[in-house]
Amino acid sequence: MPSQLLSRLLLGLITVFGLNVSATAQSYLEAEFDPAIPTLTEVVGHAPGERITSPGEMLAYLQALEKAAPERMRMVEYARSWEGRPLHYLILTSAENMARLDAIQADLASVAAGRASNGAALPVTWLASSVHGNELSPTDAALMTAYHLLAAQNDARTEQILSETIVILDPLQNPDGRAHFVDNYRRALGIKPIADRQAAEHDEPWPGGRVNHYMFDLNRDWFTLSQPETRGKVTAMLSWSPVVVADIHEMSGDDTYFFSPAAKPVNPNITDGQLRLYELIGRNNAAWFDRINEPYFTREIFDLFYPGYGDTWNAHQGAIGSTYEQGSPRGLVWERPDGSLLTYADAVRNQFIASIGTVEAVAQNADRFLQEFANYRSANANGAAGRGTYVIDLSKQRWNAEALGRRLTAQGISVVRRAGPAMACGTSYPNGYLAVSQAQPAARLVRSLLDIDTPLPRDFIEDQEARRSDDLPHELYDVTAWSVGIMSGTSVALCPGSVPGTALASTDPIAPIVEGDGAFATAVPWTDAGQARLVALALGEGLSARVTDEAFVQSGREFPMGTVVFPAGANDPEQMARLAVLAQNEGAHIVRLNSSWVEEGPNLGSDAFASLTLPKVAMAWGRGVSPLSAGATRFVLEQRLGVPVTPIRSFRITGVDLTDYDVLIIPDGNPSGVIGQGGARTIRSFVERGGVVVALGNSVSMLAAGKNPLLSVKREAALGRTPDAGGGSEETPPLAEAQEFTTEEEYKSAIENQNALPDILPGALLKTVADQEHYLSAGYADGAVVLASGSRIFSPLDRSKGINVLRFAAADNLIASGYVWKENQRQLAFKPYLMAQPTGAGLSIGFAHDPTTRGYLDGLDLLLANAVLIAPSRER
Ligand SMILES: [Zn+2]
Repeated sequence: MPSQLLSRLLLGLITVFGLNVSATAQSYLEAEFDPAIPTLTEVVGHAPGERITSPGEMLAYLQALEKAAPERMRMVEYARSWEGRPLHYLILTSAENMARLDAIQADLASVAAGRASNGAALPVTWLASSVHGNELSPTDAALMTAYHLLAAQNDARTEQILSETIVILDPLQNPDGRAHFVDNYRRALGIKPIADRQAAEHDEPWPGGRVNHYMFDLNRDWFTLSQPETRGKVTAMLSWSPVVVADIHEMSGDDTYFFSPAAKPVNPNITDGQLRLYELIGRNNAAWFDRINEPYFTREIFDLFYPGYGDTWNAHQGAIGSTYEQGSPRGLVWERPDGSLLTYADAVRNQFIASIGTVEAVAQNADRFLQEFANYRSANANGAAGRGTYVIDLSKQRWNAEALGRRLTAQGISVVRRAGPAMACGTSYPNGYLAVSQAQPAARLVRSLLDIDTPLPRDFIEDQEARRSDDLPHELYDVTAWSVGIMSGTSVALCPGSVPGTALASTDPIAPIVEGDGAFATAVPWTDAGQARLVALALGEGLSARVTDEAFVQSGREFPMGTVVFPAGANDPEQMARLAVLAQNEGAHIVRLNSSWVEEGPNLGSDAFASLTLPKVAMAWGRGVSPLSAGATRFVLEQRLGVPVTPIRSFRITGVDLTDYDVLIIPDGNPSGVIGQGGARTIRSFVERGGVVVALGNSVSMLAAGKNPLLSVKREAALGRTPDAGGGSEETPPLAEAQEFTTEEEYKSAIENQNALPDILPGALLKTVADQEHYLSAGYADGAVVLASGSRIFSPLDRSKGINVLRFAAADNLIASGYVWKENQRQLAFKPYLMAQPTGAGLSIGFAHDPTTRGYLDGLDLLLANAVLIAPSRER
């Protein structure tokens, strides 16, 4: 850091802040500091806000703090990132509390279970930093908060915070993302940090540091628990039952500061009592920001509706869960449009002030926060959120249902299981069920996740419809549907009473199903994601298999289209034994067949069975495709289905040799410009020679471009518009036809944008209908429920060109969950979701909306397997 800028930064602190700043500010609040507690400068060589602390520097500092004050600070590793970086939380409290920490924690567990406290419990405030790795200041602020709470002496505020409460800091929720940011940032630096936002240091190369290694947005993953960072964090938080959680972020550098109360809509599973406490904390933060003359806003933009966020998910556990957002300098200094400079030190200071304001509010109201949390949990346990029970049928997508049950238990939800055949609520469950009661401490999370629909508040919808009629964008920050039973492809019923079963644990293995005792072949019915995973793993180990595109019946058992058969004649006895072990390990369903003879459908030697091998899969990777889509698709294929993926830089596709590959995936995005004409030719010749190209979401448009497209579909304009034919290139503009307006309506219709796209759908779960003859629909005879969002609606494929394998249901039966504008509902009906078109020896497959979004639509994993695992063997 050049000394000139450093002095300007510090000068900025002195003039802006006013309360106290020494030339080496280690805290922004005045106090006497214990010299025995090491400062950040002493350990890593820079003061807070002076440089962007790397994950390694952070760890070194935390270890030094813990070493200096073990009686008041404890550091706990809770997870390892994909790239092997440790994630920690820090417990900060008085020495007296630390000495009885186990008793406090045990009593907190009782309170969280809805039982009476024995008086040992203290309220826990949990401050979580930088879940988005390129949001930098929260981590440095956490280091300052830890230093301040440990080093400030004779400070009444600090003493009250440490004696009345426990503060837990999670200083870095996404260490891989931050490491990527810091590396790129330091590489781009020259002689001094540059305020111009166009400078390379502010402009991260693809995919940026926001996401983790698999390019997930970890702040959408709270109920999906797909990533190790989230799983470890949720387990850790459940062991402490925080009463207040602040998830601390950064937003655009041109914005000020945001803290709660949140914007509308508020999830109806958040209680009025909770909303009052949001107000209490918000007012305390506001008082602090007023004191330092810092602008802020509340109740705008950041809402409290989608439960995959750190704020809403924690609110559903009974905490006061908030998002805080500081304008980001995305580096050390950032010039705002009015010419003023936002420094990293400013950002760190604001985050620190909000952190102190929050822990102070809890400390000043410790009994109230703890009591309201206790009341919330016990009321839920006694049925405040309902007394019914969700029953998840283990007959439909069994493996997905079992995995869903384990994900729910990992979130502190009680789930019971009963093997089949069983009865519940007058319904018979031949393969058993899982049951989740509404009368439990985490009931509001249970309802938010398992209710078919979480309604938007009426007044909010009316406001949004009014905005739409004025051509204003809607104010929904995220999807309107996330019902996890539907997204896992399972069948969930609500029973009015309680339903018995044995408690399920998140670590319980999924029990395999082994039927038959024949030695001729082993069949893997094509019914759920676990079956696809077994097949991919077995193929990866070199086993030989065949897949059928027709159903068959043997010994009275029905085997659906897509069933994969491993013949003993084509695999040696060790391989057949290995298949059984894999099925056991994965909890899959296998049937041992004694013959190739069938009663109905094709014999195993029929042409209906194609030889199946593990495809070699390439994926367009880099600029032009969405990191979220590329990451989630690679994650689903590799980690869930067991299919390895080779990423190839999108801008290199022009020149790559794809002959070794069977499948090329183009994730959602806008890749045409980057892949270019040359790349498009490479892809076409790949398909003509027998390759399978799979385009997701917006990338379908790339395959639909040109005179002779790989997918002969077109995007539709909004209903009632007549888009230009396009391409008029006359030098003199033609005269317009004469028009006469006699009413305002005629005038409005004349100025309507005829090329307008359909209104943007915030995201809803919609039903589709399958073409049951086509193997790409295997496993989805009843259709699939898919997530649709945005304004993308394609016209259907003409029969002469290809097949609409899954199309949206009729308008009156379209919506499975969520809010859909009426015009979208009418226009989406019967339009394609999954389409396929042959060209030459190969096939082009398009998914109108990404089936791997956030890795949370596991009910569609089998559909993706049809396109990636099965299609290449069928087309060859
Ligand atoms: Zn963020």
